Amino acid sequence: MFLADGREARAVARIVMKFGGTSMAGTERIRRVARIVKRQQDSGHEVAVVVSAMAGETDRLVNFCREASALYDPAEYDVVVAAGEQITSGLLAMHLQALGCQARSWLGWQLPVHTDDGHAKARIESVGAEALSAAMAAGEIAVIPGFQGLSDDGRITTLGRGGSDTSAVAVAAAIKADRCDIYTDVDGVYTTDPRIVAKARKLKNITYEEMLELASVGSKVLQTRSVSLAMKEGVRVQVLSSFIDDDAPAADTIPGTMIVSDEELDRMQEGQDMESQLITGIAADKNEAKVTLTSVLDHPGVVAQIFGPLAQANINVDMIIQNIAQDTGATDVTFTCPLADLARTQAVLEECKAAIGYDRMIADSKVAKVSVVGVGMRSHAGIAATMFKALADRGINIEAISTSEIKVSVLIDEDEVELAVRVLHTAYGLDGA
Ligand code: ASP
Ligand code: MG
Repeated sequence: MFLADGREARAVARIVMKFGGTSMAGTERIRRVARIVKRQQDSGHEVAVVVSAMAGETDRLVNFCREASALYDPAEYDVVVAAGEQITSGLLAMHLQALGCQARSWLGWQLPVHTDDGHAKARIESVGAEALSAAMAAGEIAVIPGFQGLSDDGRITTLGRGGSDTSAVAVAAAIKADRCDIYTDVDGVYTTDPRIVAKARKLKNITYEEMLELASVGSKVLQTRSVSLAMKEGVRVQVLSSFIDDDAPAADTIPGTMIVSDEELDRMQEGQDMESQLITGIAADKNEAKVTLTSVLDHPGVVAQIFGPLAQANINVDMIIQNIAQDTGATDVTFTCPLADLARTQAVLEECKAAIGYDRMIADSKVAKVSVVGVGMRSHAGIAATMFKALADRGINIEAISTSEIKVSVLIDEDEVELAVRVLHTAYGLDGA
């Protein structure tokens, strides 16, 4: 039997469970994780677990490297920082054994998780799944340290901070898991940050693309790379809390947020009233800065003179505005860049001042980008107009605008960001009870 998306349906579901650093921080919490894992297996599933290092541990290890040398060898850095996950994987296997489960750890080099040799930011090339599948089918729980891999020349690599999410999705893809459950310290993905808007609601479903857009504008639930990988491989990802009652049932019955494809979402929502759900989420990002160059000539090649050198300096420019010049033949160019890159941006443009030929450079770091995201806007007009009107009604000034197929972003004063998010949450009918 095959499911609608071509996956072969098994009588027994195969689940990858991933636990983050706060869930693994200390003996009591690991014991709790072991009980959650056992319950999932007891409900009849084949289970593999991917774990992070204990909260704070990777930071501690990174510090030791910095203390050793300002110019440490990245290959040895990987040897050091991969150790945090090695410890938690062994410990979780022990706790599972203590509960009477068959369990063993599979380190990155044992599976193996093949990566390129980009130490400290390696990319996964493949995951060896045969031995793992066999062990799981025999009822053994596989415990896999996230974050670590093996390069072609036989050295340990790591995937970049937050990389355990990506490990979990890669393992799920390799063993054709029915689901990858990511247990974290929040219980799902919300319409917006619940710390800003008390009426934020937990989403039942969200698409990969929406999740990617939200991650790119400041929502930090999952490592962005893990979402791209899940989308590419068609892995169904669920975000849910590991801080659940000890006697809570297996994850199948306590849904967090499912991250799925557009098509699956359509199937799930068939017959439901879609009109009220045009917008899925709202995110705010204060790590933006705005730069304006005044009196730039409106000639072919001028914007290339501005943005070419910035690209070469690896600075990611986001929103760009240029007006058409009137009588003077000159106009202002405004754009945004990450706040952390502002000083470098100014230095690059200062150096190119003569080549570009602008009058003044004005920088503003007190800005924030607010974005509304939703696949519903593909087929509906008026989303942006609703946004502009809601902000105007509160006297919030819009300094720049950018759009993608499923996102509208505006740049506003940083002091007004909380108000803006709240107003928009209400305007799009997202407020919960
Ligand atoms: N322990 C690693 C980190 O803190 C990987 C992870 O937890 O995802 O970045
Ligand atoms: Mg994380």
